[in-house]
Amino acid sequence: MVSPAVIAPSADTPGGDAVIEPFVQSPPALDNLYTSDRLLVGFLRRKLPHEMLAAIEPEFIELGAEAAGPLASLQHADRLNEPVLTQWDAWGKRVDAIELTPLWREAERRAVHYGLTAVPYERCEAEWSRLRQFVLVYLFHPVTDVYTCPLAMTDGAARTLIESGNRALIARAVPRLTGRDPAASWTSGQWMTESSGGSDVGSSATIAELGADGRWRLHGKKWFTSAATSQMALTLARPVGNGAGGNGLAMFYVECRDESGRLSGIRVERLKDKLGTRKVPTAELLLDGTPAQLVAGTTGGTRAIEPMLRITRTWNSVCAASFMRHAHRLAADYAKRRVAFGAPLAALPLHRETLADVEAECAGAFLLTFLLVELLGRAEAGVATEDQAVLLRLLTPLTKLTTGKQSVQAVSEAIEAFGGAGYVEDTGLPVLLRDTQVLPIWEGTTNVLSLDLLLRADVARGVAALEQRVGVACEAARTAGLGDVADTARDALSAARAWLQADRDGEHRQAGARRFALTLGRATELALLAEHAALASGSERAMIAELAHRFRRAGVNLLSEEL
Ligand SMILES: Cc1cc2nc3c(=O)[nH]c(=O)nc-3n(C[C@H](O)[C@H](O)[C@H](O)COP(=O)(O)OP(=O)(O)OC[C@H]3O[C@@H](n4cnc5c(N)ncnc54)[C@H](O)[C@@H]3O)c2cc1C
Repeated sequence: MVSPAVIAPSADTPGGDAVIEPFVQSPPALDNLYTSDRLLVGFLRRKLPHEMLAAIEPEFIELGAEAAGPLASLQHADRLNEPVLTQWDAWGKRVDAIELTPLWREAERRAVHYGLTAVPYERCEAEWSRLRQFVLVYLFHPVTDVYTCPLAMTDGAARTLIESGNRALIARAVPRLTGRDPAASWTSGQWMTESSGGSDVGSSATIAELGADGRWRLHGKKWFTSAATSQMALTLARPVGNGAGGNGLAMFYVECRDESGRLSGIRVERLKDKLGTRKVPTAELLLDGTPAQLVAGTTGGTRAIEPMLRITRTWNSVCAASFMRHAHRLAADYAKRRVAFGAPLAALPLHRETLADVEAECAGAFLLTFLLVELLGRAEAGVATEDQAVLLRLLTPLTKLTTGKQSVQAVSEAIEAFGGAGYVEDTGLPVLLRDTQVLPIWEGTTNVLSLDLLLRADVARGVAALEQRVGVACEAARTAGLGDVADTARDALSAARAWLQADRDGEHRQAGARRFALTLGRATELALLAEHAALASGSERAMIAELAHRFRRAGVNLLSEEL
């Protein structure tokens, strides 16, 4: 399919002969990512105490403007750049230096300036500190080419060290991971995946040897390490003599470079040649006697590193919601500019319908994600109830897997909404789809998280806590005339509970885990949409109620044929 050239009479041509003018298409434009996001602004107005929002909103407006302006421009200018690995210098010395792109260097500065890993540790907003942080992340993410990847691991490492109780390491690393001084700030990697398995971490082959000098040294190969330029990492290795499986692994702290700046017993074998996230320097690392410190005991490493996963999965959910919103906002703006069949796309009923369906998914993903964020903030501030703590444990994998799947579908639809332009590299659009595709893969794939959720000991309690929270949402929805939407959400959750309680063998249980998890996720999103509509008023209520109806039509209960 080709787009027609515009043929128009030229005023400069004697006799008014027709000339072929080049076809010029109007690219989508960005408004302030914060002030133009009605759902986000309305949500914060309802959630946060008035004075608190008044105090922090200027920062959202500032970052929203920067993201739509200078950062988006830099992102476009940086389009063809990629990190470069130099393994050897001109004189034969092994250096393994990785040069990052200008966008990433700027993103690093902006991340420290906005305190993207500082805010939740400063706790100025008490239980709302995570909300403040993740609103900033939501605005920052779509224009910084996945710089959120090292930030997520940095936040996760800080949390993991704090929960480990290792005072020396907390004192050494946490201020650097969570500080606002650009000269002293660090990022962290997490090195878990080996060629033997990313999901099956228990099969890791890296070993840890305790030397006569009392120092641990690691030997092995880490197959995917995304923050290859970080100053430190948390990793898993098996102390010599330990048994097989996850419990035989210990968690180690590694400072990647010595005082002279040389990598400490680490070789960067190569950077991965990836479908997307190409600004992220994802490396294969050879650990060849890497000095390391035990963080918390010589066994139980997979359990000790869980806080890392809790945090990175939350970041993943925020990034999924953020990419979805961004893709939709670009497509919606373009629909006002692009004319087909004599009308802007936005005036064509089916195109409008298509974009509205995407918007409904964006809104559902946003509300589920920010419920998770709210619960995380409450837990860290020590004000979560027991039920909220149980719910947080369920929602962490649930939100990650639900939004990860939604994001790929929504971004793909938004790309299609640009027609051929969405497939052309220098529009800057295709990268959005490629980068989104990683979200269901890393930090646990959809299947692995579905099983993780289903097989956890407290799953029944988690589902009960979810039903309770959804019940509250549904009561609110009823007061706004959204009883039918509330019923769908409740019925789907009841179906999921019945499925969970049914007597079935292990194989059938595992086979249905994804449908079970996605039913929980979609039912919760629907209930939250209905609740949010009920709490809004006027045209905003009508808009969100319409999104809730739309979301419901797209399908919520994936288990209906199994009961
Ligand atoms: C760009 C990128 C960057 C990354 N960065 C890092 C990093 O910094 N640090 C790090 O540690 N890792 C990193 N990873 C690795 C990532 O976390 C793993 O790739 C991921 O966890 C999946 O593991 P795997 O590749 O071994 O896939 P596998 O575990 O082999 O999975 C393959 C397929 O099998 C399915 N599967 C696996 N087990 C089951 C089961 N029991 N039941 C049903 N289905 C199952 C999975 O869902 C998947 O679809 C990165 C990956 C990518 C793509």
